[in-house]
Amino acid sequence: MTGNGRTEPIGPDGVHRNLIGGAWIDGVDINQDVNPSDTSDAVGRYALASGEQAREAVAAARAAAPGWAGSSPLLRFEILDAAGNEILRSKERLGDLLAREEGKTLAEAVGEVVRAAHILKFHAGQALRPAGQLLDSIRPGVEVAVTREPVGVVSIITPWNFPIAIPAWKIAPALAYGNTVVFKPAELVPASAWELVRILQAAGLPDGALNLVMGRGRDIGDILTSSADAVSFTGSVQTGERVLASAQAARARVQLEMGGKNPLVILDDADLDVAVDCALQGAYGSTGQRCTASSRLVVAAGIHDRFVEHLTERMLALAVGDARAAGTQMGPVVDASQLAQDQKYIDLARAESGTVLGGRRLERDADGFYLEPALVVGTRPEDTINREEVFGPVASVVQVDGYDEALAVANGTEFGLTAGIVTTSLAAAGDFRRRSTAGMVMVNVATAGVDFHVPFGGRQASSYGPREQGEQAREFFTTVKTSYIAAGRPG
Ligand code: ADP
Repeated sequence: MTGNGRTEPIGPDGVHRNLIGGAWIDGVDINQDVNPSDTSDAVGRYALASGEQAREAVAAARAAAPGWAGSSPLLRFEILDAAGNEILRSKERLGDLLAREEGKTLAEAVGEVVRAAHILKFHAGQALRPAGQLLDSIRPGVEVAVTREPVGVVSIITPWNFPIAIPAWKIAPALAYGNTVVFKPAELVPASAWELVRILQAAGLPDGALNLVMGRGRDIGDILTSSADAVSFTGSVQTGERVLASAQAARARVQLEMGGKNPLVILDDADLDVAVDCALQGAYGSTGQRCTASSRLVVAAGIHDRFVEHLTERMLALAVGDARAAGTQMGPVVDASQLAQDQKYIDLARAESGTVLGGRRLERDADGFYLEPALVVGTRPEDTINREEVFGPVASVVQVDGYDEALAVANGTEFGLTAGIVTTSLAAAGDFRRRSTAGMVMVNVATAGVDFHVPFGGRQASSYGPREQGEQAREFFTTVKTSYIAAGRPG
């Protein structure tokens, strides 16, 4: 299927279409995007792709692969840079749309949009920085060139919690290094993904370089993971394992970012304000719906009571409301099933051992998924609340005797995405940096993965495959070629 220049991104019925081989195409069903702050607000209608269309998208990406792989790095730079500029120009509109479909606050949403733009512009620059080496062979008269080439067709599958930043940080390096892409966003947040693709396509991508198939994971996921050369996925551990099995059976390379149960250690010598700020932002930022959320607060006995008192006060004062309303500090939970999951864990924590502060279902003028942030105190490391990811505004506190116990508790889960420490001790901070089993360590600073020029990723059950973002992204999105070159006889 090729683009004929005549298809419109939005159909006459108002449905936002999929992009396959440069043509905007209706799906086989329609997905209604709903505002979690007000379920009577219909954000928009988005085409759902069929399995057959997913196969067509992979075929279109395959057809476009040689041309895009051979394109000028300057062209790739220009397209990604122009798309980044367009996103920056549209940040208020796109931020509003993102807050409306996902439920994070307007400030968080605009911040995410700006970050997506910067990610595109960073990888635009990377397109112009090819990596390679020219070396002498161990044999006389022979040289060895080590170069990097695109992997081929990349399937990109993303979750709902960062509707534009995660797609951007996968799509941008994939395209920058000359791969073609089939992109499937999460069903809950098609609007931001669709805008990103429309902007990239309008910036001048050739037909088939980037394909968008909005669809249900259970309908089209296996097709995308079993027919590409590489699969980059962010989502739950359970789905990640399925993606891994499917991609490996097809001998595709795989990159997975999954869950976390990220600790934040607070030592007795911590600055209390820094500790409370890091915990508040780390646990409840983006309504706690982040794989990097500081959901386990590991607190030394000497500061424990003061810390819990101050954090509880600040947490209960957070203004929970419509994501786009002025003054809102925490938006709603993303949907009914996530809300049910959050409430299930709150009930379980109460039943197992903890005392739950906050955590009530909240009513607002509009019908939305509002939940008061929750802090579970008095928990044990082995409690369910300290082992399983909630993915909501729920944090738990484990009291420990000192640094050694704190380190053991921090490292004591199957996950390993981020780990934080608040301390004024250089020795403790240094030791924690060395001995933490997480892929990312935060010292006296709130958990985050906002820096797009450095690697992002974890260890153990949290991640699989090469790191994302920064220069490191090259590792996954290129494959190495070693060429031996003899000059032959002169003359
Ligand atoms: P979450 O519930 O946090 O969104 P999921 O792992 O369920 O996490 O979803 C992450 C992404 O994986 C979504 O885009 C979803 O549609 C997709 N997905 C779901 N099932 C599959 C599957 N079998 N194969 C590939 N992708 C899938």
